[in-house]
Amino acid sequence: MGEPWYSPQLPTPIDAPYPIIFNDEVARLLGIDAAAARAQGYAETLSGNRLPDGCHPVAHRYAGHQFGIWAGQLGDGRAITLGDIQTANGARYDIQLKGAGQTPYSRFADGRAVLRSTIREYLGSEALAGLGIATTRALAIVGSNLPIYRETVETAAIMTRVAPSLVRFGSFEMLFYNRRFDQLAPLADHVIDGHHPDIAAIGSGPARYRAWAERVGDLTAALIADWQAVGFCHGVMNTDNMSVLGLTLDYGPYGFMDAFEPDWICNHSDSAGRYVYDQQPAVGLWNMGRFVQAILPLLDDDPDGAVKIGQDLIEHYRHSYDRAWMRRMRAKLGLVDERDDDRALIEALLRIMAASHADFTRSFRMLGHVSAARDASGAPFVDEFADRQAAGRWLADWRARLGHDEARDDPRGERMRCTNPKYVLRNYLAQNAIDRAQDGDYSEIERLYTLLQRPFDEQPEQADYARLPPDWARGLVLSCSA
Ligand code: AMP
Ligand code: MG
Repeated sequence: MGEPWYSPQLPTPIDAPYPIIFNDEVARLLGIDAAAARAQGYAETLSGNRLPDGCHPVAHRYAGHQFGIWAGQLGDGRAITLGDIQTANGARYDIQLKGAGQTPYSRFADGRAVLRSTIREYLGSEALAGLGIATTRALAIVGSNLPIYRETVETAAIMTRVAPSLVRFGSFEMLFYNRRFDQLAPLADHVIDGHHPDIAAIGSGPARYRAWAERVGDLTAALIADWQAVGFCHGVMNTDNMSVLGLTLDYGPYGFMDAFEPDWICNHSDSAGRYVYDQQPAVGLWNMGRFVQAILPLLDDDPDGAVKIGQDLIEHYRHSYDRAWMRRMRAKLGLVDERDDDRALIEALLRIMAASHADFTRSFRMLGHVSAARDASGAPFVDEFADRQAAGRWLADWRARLGHDEARDDPRGERMRCTNPKYVLRNYLAQNAIDRAQDGDYSEIERLYTLLQRPFDEQPEQADYARLPPDWARGLVLSCSA
Protein backbone atom coordinates (compact mmCIF):
# COMPACT_ATOMS: atom_id res chain seq x y z
CA MET A 1 0.00 0.00 0.00
CA GLY A 2 1.34 3.45 -0.83
CA GLU A 3 0.40 7.08 -0.35
CA PRO A 4 -1.59 8.52 1.36
CA TRP A 5 -1.23 5.97 4.13
CA TYR A 6 2.48 6.06 4.71
CA SER A 7 5.81 7.68 4.00
CA PRO A 8 9.04 5.78 3.49
CA GLN A 9 11.16 6.41 6.57
CA LEU A 10 14.45 4.88 7.67
CA PRO A 11 15.11 4.41 11.39
CA THR A 12 17.71 6.81 12.82
CA PRO A 13 20.74 4.80 13.95
CA ILE A 14 21.26 4.82 17.70
CA ASP A 15 24.48 4.56 19.74
CA ALA A 16 25.61 1.15 20.94
CA PRO A 17 22.25 -0.63 21.34
CA TYR A 18 22.16 -3.51 23.82
CA PRO A 19 19.62 -6.27 24.44
CA ILE A 20 17.21 -5.86 27.36
CA ILE A 21 14.49 -8.44 26.90
CA PHE A 22 13.35 -10.83 24.20
CA ASN A 23 10.00 -12.60 24.15
CA ASP A 24 10.34 -16.26 23.15
CA GLU A 25 6.59 -16.78 23.00
CA VAL A 26 6.01 -13.94 20.53
CA ALA A 27 9.03 -15.11 18.54
CA ARG A 28 7.38 -18.52 18.30
CA LEU A 29 4.15 -16.89 17.10
CA LEU A 30 6.14 -15.26 14.31
CA GLY A 31 8.11 -18.37 13.43
CA ILE A 32 11.38 -16.74 14.54
CA ASP A 33 14.04 -18.99 16.08
CA ALA A 34 14.41 -17.35 19.49
CA ALA A 35 17.62 -19.17 20.42
CA ALA A 36 19.25 -18.06 17.17
CA ALA A 37 18.04 -14.47 17.63
CA ARG A 38 19.52 -14.36 21.11
CA ALA A 39 22.77 -16.01 20.00
CA GLN A 40 23.27 -13.68 17.03
CA GLY A 41 22.40 -10.64 19.10
CA TYR A 42 19.17 -8.97 18.11
CA ALA A 43 20.05 -5.46 19.28
CA GLU A 44 21.49 -4.21 15.97
CA THR A 45 18.43 -5.31 13.98
CA LEU A 46 15.75 -4.44 16.52
CA SER A 47 17.22 -0.99 17.09
CA GLY A 48 16.89 -0.30 13.38
CA ASN A 49 20.67 0.08 12.98
CA ARG A 50 20.93 -2.87 10.61
CA LEU A 51 18.02 -3.46 8.25
CA PRO A 52 17.19 -6.93 6.94
CA ASP A 53 17.62 -7.35 3.17
CA GLY A 54 14.70 -6.12 1.13
CA CYS A 55 13.26 -4.11 4.02
CA HIS A 56 11.55 -0.82 3.12
CA PRO A 57 10.55 0.83 6.39
CA VAL A 58 7.61 3.21 6.56
CA ALA A 59 5.86 5.54 8.99
CA HIS A 60 2.06 5.49 8.92
CA ARG A 61 -0.05 8.56 8.49
CA TYR A 62 -3.31 8.81 10.40
CA ALA A 63 -5.38 11.44 12.14
CA GLY A 64 -7.79 11.49 15.03
CA HIS A 65 -9.87 13.09 17.72
CA GLN A 66 -7.85 13.71 20.87
CA PHE A 67 -9.74 14.27 24.12
CA GLY A 68 -12.88 14.93 22.09
CA ILE A 69 -11.38 17.44 19.68
CA TRP A 70 -10.43 16.93 16.03
CA ALA A 71 -6.65 17.05 16.11
CA GLY A 72 -6.05 16.84 12.37
CA GLN A 73 -3.12 14.93 11.01
CA LEU A 74 -1.11 12.79 13.37
CA GLY A 75 0.80 9.66 12.45
CA ASP A 76 3.57 7.44 13.69
CA GLY A 77 5.78 10.08 15.25
CA ARG A 78 8.33 7.62 16.53
CA ALA A 79 7.22 4.21 15.30
CA ILE A 80 8.65 2.81 12.11
CA THR A 81 7.20 -0.31 10.48
CA LEU A 82 9.89 -2.57 9.04
CA GLY A 83 7.41 -4.71 7.11
CA ASP A 84 5.39 -7.83 7.75
CA ILE A 85 6.15 -11.46 8.43
CA GLN A 86 3.99 -14.26 7.10
CA THR A 87 3.93 -17.27 9.40
CA ALA A 88 3.71 -20.91 8.40
CA ASN A 89 -0.06 -20.96 9.03
CA GLY A 90 -0.56 -17.95 6.74
CA ALA A 91 -1.05 -15.26 9.40
CA ARG A 92 0.68 -11.93 8.81
CA TYR A 93 2.15 -9.65 11.44
CA ASP A 94 3.44 -6.10 11.05
CA ILE A 95 6.78 -5.58 12.77
CA GLN A 96 7.29 -2.09 14.10
CA LEU A 97 10.09 -0.40 16.01
CA LYS A 98 8.76 2.11 18.53
CA GLY A 99 11.25 4.81 19.46
CA ALA A 100 13.33 4.40 16.29
CA GLY A 101 13.72 8.09 15.45
CA GLN A 102 11.86 10.98 13.92
CA THR A 103 9.38 10.68 11.08
CA PRO A 104 7.39 13.23 9.05
CA TYR A 105 4.77 12.98 11.83
CA SER A 106 6.99 13.71 14.83
CA ARG A 107 5.95 17.37 15.00
CA PHE A 108 8.27 18.86 17.65
CA ALA A 109 9.05 15.62 19.44
CA ASP A 110 12.26 13.62 19.36
CA GLY A 111 11.04 10.35 17.83
CA ARG A 112 12.43 8.39 20.76
CA ALA A 113 11.00 6.38 23.64
CA VAL A 114 12.41 6.11 27.15
CA LEU A 115 13.22 2.79 28.83
CA ARG A 116 10.42 3.37 31.37
CA SER A 117 7.69 3.62 28.73
CA THR A 118 8.93 0.66 26.69
CA ILE A 119 8.88 -1.54 29.81
CA ARG A 120 5.34 -0.39 30.56
CA GLU A 121 4.24 -1.22 27.03
CA TYR A 122 6.05 -4.56 27.01
CA LEU A 123 4.58 -5.69 30.31
CA GLY A 124 1.16 -4.16 29.64
CA SER A 125 0.67 -5.87 26.33
CA GLU A 126 1.97 -9.20 27.57
CA ALA A 127 -0.19 -8.98 30.71
CA LEU A 128 -3.33 -8.44 28.61
CA ALA A 129 -2.30 -11.25 26.27
CA GLY A 130 -1.91 -13.49 29.33
CA LEU A 131 -5.46 -12.59 30.34
CA GLY A 132 -6.68 -13.54 26.87
CA ILE A 133 -7.46 -9.93 25.91
CA ALA A 134 -6.84 -8.76 22.36
CA THR A 135 -3.71 -6.63 22.11
CA THR A 136 -0.66 -5.75 20.09
CA ARG A 137 2.30 -7.82 21.28
CA ALA A 138 5.85 -7.06 22.30
CA LEU A 139 8.77 -8.97 20.80
CA ALA A 140 11.74 -7.25 22.39
CA ILE A 141 13.25 -4.20 24.02
CA VAL A 142 16.64 -2.86 23.06
CA GLY A 143 18.34 -0.14 25.14
CA SER A 144 20.85 2.60 24.47
CA ASN A 145 22.56 5.09 26.74
CA LEU A 146 21.45 7.96 24.52
CA PRO A 147 20.08 10.59 26.92
CA ILE A 148 16.41 11.47 26.45
CA TYR A 149 14.88 14.57 27.93
CA ARG A 150 11.47 14.24 29.58
CA GLU A 151 10.60 15.61 33.06
CA THR A 152 14.11 14.37 33.89
CA VAL A 153 16.94 12.94 31.81
CA GLU A 154 16.34 9.28 31.03
CA THR A 155 17.83 6.77 28.61
CA ALA A 156 16.45 5.59 25.29
CA ALA A 157 14.97 2.24 24.39
CA ILE A 158 13.27 0.78 21.35
CA MET A 159 10.42 -1.69 21.60
CA THR A 160 9.49 -4.07 18.82
CA ARG A 161 5.72 -4.08 18.51
CA VAL A 162 3.93 -6.79 16.60
CA ALA A 163 0.31 -6.82 15.39
CA PRO A 164 -1.78 -8.36 12.61
CA SER A 165 -2.60 -4.78 11.62
CA LEU A 166 -1.97 -1.32 13.05
CA VAL A 167 -4.80 0.39 11.14
CA ARG A 168 -6.68 2.74 13.44
CA PHE A 169 -10.06 4.49 13.48
CA GLY A 170 -7.94 7.58 12.79
CA SER A 171 -6.57 6.04 9.58
CA PHE A 172 -10.07 6.38 8.12
CA GLU A 173 -10.66 9.79 9.66
CA MET A 174 -7.47 11.01 7.94
CA LEU A 175 -8.99 10.08 4.56
CA PHE A 176 -12.43 11.45 5.30
CA TYR A 177 -11.33 14.83 6.63
CA ASN A 178 -8.83 15.24 3.78
CA ARG A 179 -11.74 14.46 1.40
CA ARG A 180 -9.89 11.46 -0.01
CA PHE A 181 -13.17 9.53 -0.27
CA ASP A 182 -11.81 7.50 -3.18
CA GLN A 183 -9.29 5.95 -0.80
CA LEU A 184 -11.76 4.78 1.85
CA ALA A 185 -12.74 1.59 0.02
CA PRO A 186 -9.15 0.51 -0.75
CA LEU A 187 -8.14 0.88 2.92
CA ALA A 188 -11.31 -0.88 4.13
CA ASP A 189 -10.71 -3.65 1.59
CA HIS A 190 -7.14 -4.01 2.82
CA VAL A 191 -8.50 -4.70 6.33
CA ILE A 192 -11.40 -6.88 5.20
CA ASP A 193 -9.40 -9.02 2.77
CA GLY A 194 -6.57 -9.43 5.24
CA HIS A 195 -8.56 -10.17 8.40
CA HIS A 196 -12.21 -11.01 7.79
CA PRO A 197 -12.57 -13.72 5.13
CA ASP A 198 -16.26 -14.19 5.93
CA ILE A 199 -16.95 -10.52 5.14
CA ALA A 200 -14.68 -10.59 2.09
CA ALA A 201 -16.97 -13.31 0.74
CA ILE A 202 -19.88 -10.85 0.73
CA GLY A 203 -18.44 -9.23 -2.40
CA SER A 204 -18.38 -5.51 -3.05
CA GLY A 205 -20.77 -2.70 -2.26
CA PRO A 206 -22.45 -1.21 0.80
CA ALA A 207 -23.47 -4.56 2.31
CA ARG A 208 -19.80 -5.50 2.62
CA TYR A 209 -18.87 -2.28 4.41
CA ARG A 210 -21.87 -2.36 6.67
CA ALA A 211 -21.04 -5.91 7.76
CA TRP A 212 -17.47 -4.83 8.35
CA ALA A 213 -18.49 -1.79 10.41
CA GLU A 214 -20.69 -4.07 12.54
CA ARG A 215 -17.65 -6.29 13.04
CA VAL A 216 -15.54 -3.33 14.10
CA GLY A 217 -18.30 -2.48 16.58
CA ASP A 218 -18.41 -6.04 17.91
CA LEU A 219 -14.63 -6.25 18.27
CA THR A 220 -14.46 -2.86 20.00
CA ALA A 221 -17.34 -3.78 22.32
CA ALA A 222 -15.71 -7.10 23.21
CA LEU A 223 -12.41 -5.39 23.91
CA ILE A 224 -13.84 -2.73 26.18
CA ALA A 225 -15.97 -5.31 28.01
CA ASP A 226 -12.77 -7.29 28.55
CA TRP A 227 -11.06 -4.21 29.98
CA GLN A 228 -13.98 -3.48 32.32
CA ALA A 229 -14.00 -7.06 33.51
CA VAL A 230 -10.39 -6.93 34.73
CA GLY A 231 -10.33 -3.29 35.88
CA PHE A 232 -8.07 -2.10 33.07
CA CYS A 233 -8.04 1.58 32.11
CA HIS A 234 -6.50 2.50 28.79
CA GLY A 235 -5.99 6.13 29.72
CA VAL A 236 -5.85 7.70 26.24
CA MET A 237 -8.79 6.42 24.20
CA ASN A 238 -8.30 8.93 21.41
CA THR A 239 -9.54 7.72 18.03
CA ASP A 240 -5.95 7.48 16.77
CA ASN A 241 -5.37 4.87 19.48
CA MET A 242 -8.37 2.70 18.50
CA SER A 243 -7.55 -0.40 16.45
CA VAL A 244 -10.04 -1.49 13.76
CA LEU A 245 -9.25 -5.07 14.82
CA GLY A 246 -10.27 -4.37 18.40
CA LEU A 247 -6.74 -4.71 19.75
CA THR A 248 -5.49 -2.83 22.79
CA LEU A 249 -3.19 -0.33 21.13
CA ASP A 250 -0.74 2.37 22.25
CA TYR A 251 0.09 1.75 25.87
CA GLY A 252 0.71 5.06 27.58
CA PRO A 253 -0.50 5.96 31.07
CA TYR A 254 -2.73 2.88 31.31
CA GLY A 255 -3.42 1.15 34.59
CA PHE A 256 -5.00 -1.83 36.28
CA MET A 257 -7.07 -0.59 39.17
CA ASP A 258 -6.13 -1.49 42.71
CA ALA A 259 -8.97 -0.18 44.92
CA PHE A 260 -12.16 0.04 42.89
CA GLU A 261 -12.90 3.65 42.04
CA PRO A 262 -15.21 3.97 39.03
CA ASP A 263 -13.93 7.49 38.33
CA TRP A 264 -10.26 6.68 38.77
CA ILE A 265 -8.04 8.80 36.52
CA CYS A 266 -5.03 6.73 35.50
CA ASN A 267 -3.69 9.40 33.15
CA HIS A 268 -2.59 12.45 35.09
CA SER A 269 -2.84 14.53 31.88
CA ASP A 270 -6.58 13.71 31.68
CA SER A 271 -7.56 16.30 34.27
CA ALA A 272 -11.23 16.32 33.23
CA GLY A 273 -11.47 12.56 33.64
CA ARG A 274 -12.70 11.93 30.11
CA TYR A 275 -11.17 8.47 30.02
CA VAL A 276 -11.90 7.18 33.54
CA TYR A 277 -12.85 3.52 34.02
CA ASP A 278 -16.58 4.09 34.11
CA GLN A 279 -16.52 6.18 30.94
CA GLN A 280 -14.67 3.68 28.74
CA PRO A 281 -17.77 2.02 27.26
CA ALA A 282 -19.33 5.41 26.45
CA VAL A 283 -16.07 6.64 24.95
CA GLY A 284 -16.07 3.49 22.83
CA LEU A 285 -19.52 4.56 21.61
CA TRP A 286 -18.34 8.09 20.91
CA ASN A 287 -15.30 6.80 19.05
CA MET A 288 -17.49 4.44 17.02
CA GLY A 289 -19.45 7.54 16.04
CA ARG A 290 -16.29 9.17 14.72
CA PHE A 291 -15.33 6.01 12.88
CA VAL A 292 -18.75 5.53 11.29
CA GLN A 293 -18.79 9.20 10.30
CA ALA A 294 -15.51 8.70 8.47
CA ILE A 295 -16.76 5.71 6.48
CA LEU A 296 -20.26 7.08 5.73
CA PRO A 297 -19.48 7.35 1.99
CA LEU A 298 -19.03 3.55 1.92
CA LEU A 299 -22.36 2.74 3.54
CA ASP A 300 -24.83 4.03 0.96
CA ASP A 301 -24.66 6.11 -2.21
CA ASP A 302 -27.54 8.15 -0.87
CA PRO A 303 -26.28 10.43 1.98
CA ASP A 304 -29.54 10.18 3.95
CA GLY A 305 -29.47 6.43 3.67
CA ALA A 306 -25.86 6.39 4.87
CA VAL A 307 -26.75 8.45 7.94
CA LYS A 308 -29.56 6.03 8.83
CA ILE A 309 -27.22 3.05 8.50
CA GLY A 310 -24.65 4.94 10.57
CA GLN A 311 -27.17 5.40 13.35
CA ASP A 312 -28.02 1.70 13.26
CA LEU A 313 -24.32 0.89 13.54
CA ILE A 314 -24.01 2.96 16.68
CA GLU A 315 -26.98 1.14 18.19
CA HIS A 316 -25.37 -2.12 17.14
CA TYR A 317 -22.28 -1.26 19.18
CA ARG A 318 -24.39 -0.31 22.19
CA HIS A 319 -26.20 -3.66 22.23
CA SER A 320 -23.06 -5.57 21.44
CA TYR A 321 -21.27 -3.94 24.36
CA ASP A 322 -24.10 -4.61 26.75
CA ARG A 323 -24.27 -8.29 25.82
CA ALA A 324 -20.49 -8.63 26.04
CA TRP A 325 -20.36 -6.96 29.46
CA MET A 326 -23.23 -9.00 30.91
CA ARG A 327 -21.64 -12.21 29.65
CA ARG A 328 -18.34 -11.42 31.32
CA MET A 329 -19.85 -10.20 34.57
CA ARG A 330 -22.12 -13.23 34.89
CA ALA A 331 -19.07 -15.42 34.43
CA LYS A 332 -17.18 -13.44 37.08
CA LEU A 333 -19.99 -14.16 39.52
CA GLY A 334 -20.11 -17.82 38.54
CA LEU A 335 -23.57 -17.54 36.99
CA VAL A 336 -24.33 -19.85 34.11
CA ASP A 337 -27.96 -19.26 33.26
CA GLU A 338 -29.40 -15.80 32.66
CA ARG A 339 -31.99 -14.13 34.85
CA ASP A 340 -33.54 -10.71 34.58
CA ASP A 341 -32.28 -9.36 37.88
CA ASP A 342 -28.64 -10.34 37.28
CA ARG A 343 -27.79 -6.81 36.27
CA ALA A 344 -29.01 -5.47 39.61
CA LEU A 345 -26.92 -8.06 41.47
CA ILE A 346 -23.79 -7.16 39.49
CA GLU A 347 -24.31 -3.44 39.94
CA ALA A 348 -24.91 -3.88 43.66
CA LEU A 349 -21.57 -5.63 44.00
CA LEU A 350 -19.76 -2.87 42.13
CA ARG A 351 -21.46 -0.31 44.36
CA ILE A 352 -20.35 -1.89 47.61
CA MET A 353 -16.85 -2.44 46.20
CA ALA A 354 -16.64 1.27 45.37
CA ALA A 355 -18.02 2.31 48.76
CA SER A 356 -15.45 0.13 50.56
CA HIS A 357 -12.59 0.94 48.15
CA ALA A 358 -12.25 -2.81 47.88
CA ASP A 359 -9.46 -4.10 45.67
CA PHE A 360 -10.92 -4.87 42.23
CA THR A 361 -8.88 -7.97 41.46
CA ARG A 362 -8.92 -9.49 44.93
CA SER A 363 -12.67 -9.00 45.50
CA PHE A 364 -13.63 -11.06 42.48
CA ARG A 365 -10.92 -13.63 43.05
CA MET A 366 -11.99 -14.20 46.66
CA LEU A 367 -15.62 -14.68 45.65
CA GLY A 368 -14.46 -17.81 43.85
CA HIS A 369 -13.21 -19.16 47.18
CA VAL A 370 -16.53 -18.77 49.00
CA SER A 371 -18.99 -21.59 49.46
CA ALA A 372 -22.56 -21.28 48.22
CA ALA A 373 -23.91 -22.77 51.46
CA ARG A 374 -26.03 -20.21 53.28
CA ASP A 375 -24.45 -20.72 56.69
CA ALA A 376 -20.85 -20.99 55.41
CA SER A 377 -18.26 -18.34 56.20
CA GLY A 378 -18.11 -15.25 53.98
CA ALA A 379 -14.31 -15.24 54.24
CA PRO A 380 -12.12 -14.54 52.38
CA PHE A 381 -14.51 -12.42 50.29
CA VAL A 382 -15.93 -10.19 53.05
CA ASP A 383 -12.39 -9.61 54.36
CA GLU A 384 -11.74 -7.44 51.31
CA PHE A 385 -14.39 -4.92 52.40
CA ALA A 386 -14.21 -2.11 54.92
CA ASP A 387 -17.97 -2.53 55.28
CA ARG A 388 -18.10 -6.26 55.99
CA GLN A 389 -21.80 -6.19 56.75
CA ALA A 390 -22.65 -4.77 53.33
CA ALA A 391 -20.47 -7.46 51.79
CA GLY A 392 -22.23 -10.10 53.88
CA ARG A 393 -25.67 -8.88 52.78
CA TRP A 394 -24.62 -8.96 49.14
CA LEU A 395 -23.21 -12.44 49.61
CA ALA A 396 -26.59 -13.62 50.92
CA ASP A 397 -28.29 -12.25 47.79
CA TRP A 398 -25.68 -13.94 45.60
CA ARG A 399 -26.16 -17.27 47.36
CA ALA A 400 -29.91 -16.96 46.99
CA ARG A 401 -29.44 -16.27 43.29
CA LEU A 402 -27.20 -19.23 42.52
CA GLY A 403 -29.06 -21.84 40.56
CA HIS A 404 -28.94 -25.56 41.09
CA ASP A 405 -25.78 -26.24 39.06
CA GLU A 406 -24.07 -23.01 40.09
CA ALA A 407 -24.42 -23.84 43.77
CA ARG A 408 -21.95 -26.75 43.53
CA ASP A 409 -18.81 -25.18 44.90
CA ASP A 410 -16.24 -27.29 43.12
CA PRO A 411 -16.89 -26.71 39.45
CA ARG A 412 -18.15 -23.17 40.04
CA GLY A 413 -15.12 -22.05 42.06
CA GLU A 414 -12.85 -23.54 39.43
CA ARG A 415 -14.74 -21.75 36.64
CA MET A 416 -14.61 -18.45 38.51
CA ARG A 417 -10.87 -18.75 39.03
CA CYS A 418 -10.48 -19.09 35.25
CA THR A 419 -12.13 -15.73 34.70
CA ASN A 420 -11.12 -13.74 37.79
CA PRO A 421 -7.33 -13.41 37.69
CA LYS A 422 -5.24 -13.71 40.83
CA TYR A 423 -2.43 -11.59 39.38
CA VAL A 424 -2.61 -8.37 37.38
CA LEU A 425 0.05 -5.85 36.45
CA ARG A 426 -0.49 -3.42 39.27
CA ASN A 427 1.20 -0.08 38.70
CA TYR A 428 3.57 -0.52 41.60
CA LEU A 429 4.74 -3.88 40.26
CA ALA A 430 5.56 -2.31 36.90
CA GLN A 431 7.28 0.55 38.74
CA ASN A 432 9.46 -1.86 40.69
CA ALA A 433 10.54 -3.53 37.45
CA ILE A 434 11.30 -0.11 35.93
CA ASP A 435 13.31 1.08 38.94
CA ARG A 436 15.47 -2.02 38.82
CA ALA A 437 15.87 -1.86 35.05
CA GLN A 438 17.08 1.71 35.31
CA ASP A 439 19.86 0.32 37.52
CA GLY A 440 20.70 -2.28 34.87
CA ASP A 441 18.87 -5.23 36.43
CA TYR A 442 16.24 -6.63 34.04
CA SER A 443 15.35 -9.72 36.07
CA GLU A 444 12.13 -8.25 37.47
CA ILE A 445 10.77 -7.69 33.95
CA GLU A 446 11.36 -11.37 33.24
CA ARG A 447 9.81 -12.40 36.55
CA LEU A 448 6.66 -10.33 36.01
CA TYR A 449 6.38 -11.49 32.44
CA THR A 450 6.51 -15.14 33.52
CA LEU A 451 4.01 -14.55 36.34
CA LEU A 452 1.53 -12.72 34.13
CA GLN A 453 1.54 -15.34 31.42
CA ARG A 454 -0.51 -17.47 33.84
CA PRO A 455 -2.56 -14.89 35.76
CA PHE A 456 -5.35 -17.33 36.67
CA ASP A 457 -3.06 -19.99 38.19
CA GLU A 458 -2.55 -19.99 41.94
CA GLN A 459 1.28 -19.96 41.70
CA PRO A 460 1.45 -20.05 45.53
CA GLU A 461 5.20 -19.32 45.55
CA GLN A 462 4.39 -15.93 43.96
CA ALA A 463 1.59 -15.00 46.37
CA ASP A 464 3.31 -11.74 47.36
CA TYR A 465 2.46 -10.38 43.91
CA ALA A 466 -1.25 -10.79 44.64
CA ARG A 467 -1.17 -8.74 47.85
CA LEU A 468 -2.72 -5.34 48.30
CA PRO A 469 -0.33 -2.66 47.02
CA PRO A 470 1.91 -0.91 49.54
CA ASP A 471 1.01 2.61 50.70
CA TRP A 472 3.58 4.29 48.45
CA ALA A 473 1.79 2.90 45.40
CA ARG A 474 -1.16 5.22 46.01
CA GLY A 475 0.98 8.24 45.20
CA LEU A 476 2.13 6.92 41.81
CA VAL A 477 1.28 9.39 39.07
CA LEU A 478 1.45 8.65 35.34
CA SER A 479 1.34 11.24 32.63
CA CYS A 480 1.41 11.04 28.83
CA SER A 481 5.19 11.59 28.87
CA ALA A 482 6.74 8.58 27.24
P1 AMP B 1 0.07 8.78 21.95
O1 AMP B 1 -0.65 9.62 22.93
O2 AMP B 1 1.17 7.95 22.53
O3 AMP B 1 -0.85 7.96 21.12
O4 AMP B 1 0.84 9.81 20.97
C1 AMP B 1 0.18 10.81 20.24
C2 AMP B 1 0.99 11.17 19.02
O5 AMP B 1 2.25 11.73 19.39
C3 AMP B 1 1.29 9.99 18.12
O6 AMP B 1 1.11 10.39 16.80
C4 AMP B 1 2.73 9.66 18.46
O7 AMP B 1 3.39 9.04 17.38
C5 AMP B 1 3.31 11.02 18.78
N1 AMP B 1 4.45 10.95 19.71
C6 AMP B 1 4.41 10.61 21.02
N2 AMP B 1 5.66 10.67 21.54
C7 AMP B 1 6.49 11.04 20.55
C8 AMP B 1 7.91 11.25 20.46
N3 AMP B 1 8.73 11.14 21.50
N4 AMP B 1 8.41 11.63 19.24
C9 AMP B 1 7.61 11.77 18.18
N5 AMP B 1 6.28 11.59 18.21
C10 AMP B 1 5.72 11.22 19.38
MG1 MG C 1 -1.06 6.90 19.77
